[in-house]
Amino acid sequence: MAVKTFMFYQKEEKLTEHFTVGDFWAYAGHKEIKLDTQLAQIWEKIYARFGTRPMLRNKNNNYPYKPYAPQPSAGYRDAANWSGSRTSQHCYGRGVDFYVPGVAAYRLAQFVETLPEVGGIGLYLAKSGELEKVKHIHIDTRIKRARWGWSGWTSKTNTPGFGGIPCVFKKGHRSAAIEALQRKLNSLGYDAGSTDGIYGDKTVLAVKLFQRDNGLRADGVFGKDTNKKLGLFDWHKWS
Ligand SMILES: [Zn+2]
Repeated sequence: MAVKTFMFYQKEEKLTEHFTVGDFWAYAGHKEIKLDTQLAQIWEKIYARFGTRPMLRNKNNNYPYKPYAPQPSAGYRDAANWSGSRTSQHCYGRGVDFYVPGVAAYRLAQFVETLPEVGGIGLYLAKSGELEKVKHIHIDTRIKRARWGWSGWTSKTNTPGFGGIPCVFKKGHRSAAIEALQRKLNSLGYDAGSTDGIYGDKTVLAVKLFQRDNGLRADGVFGKDTNKKLGLFDWHKWS
């Protein structure tokens, strides 16, 4: 993780194969921005996965939004001048709000859930049970996990945020959904270790044992079939 400060004249500077500093420049009026260059690497993964470039949500005014004062940050917003959290990861250059044209935002959320370098994920403009209406997502590179913006399936499992969105999980992944998985496995007597949301060796082994006992291929990867046997998440939105 490397947060750097970029000046206006550096906008054309390439961060990765497909993205420049300018792609993260939310307002023309900014003289400089702070930006964690890892965000560009994450965008590369998203581009590779969906075949369409991610775009800043406020750059193209893809839906009405309240404008914020120009400020040095990867996303936007002035810590002294906006109504949100003053410790927002945007203020450290570690957060970005974006969408991918033609891709449902909750699918982006499902995908970034699988990237261990993503610390925070937020869904915007969705109510419980309205995943289709999510317009854009927030990601950031904070060290600790954070999830917010949706409380659908997760409310059933006491999982904070929307992290209960089902996903394929394997070793090294972290997610609030994994916390719920660990809790479930532990309650069934499979020792998944501490419920820390991190898919480590103990969780892999617990999943393998559960799979073996239930006639599934014991590969230690949590996917649709394992989910079904565990009766853990509603999978109907997953594609
Ligand atoms: Zn944000």
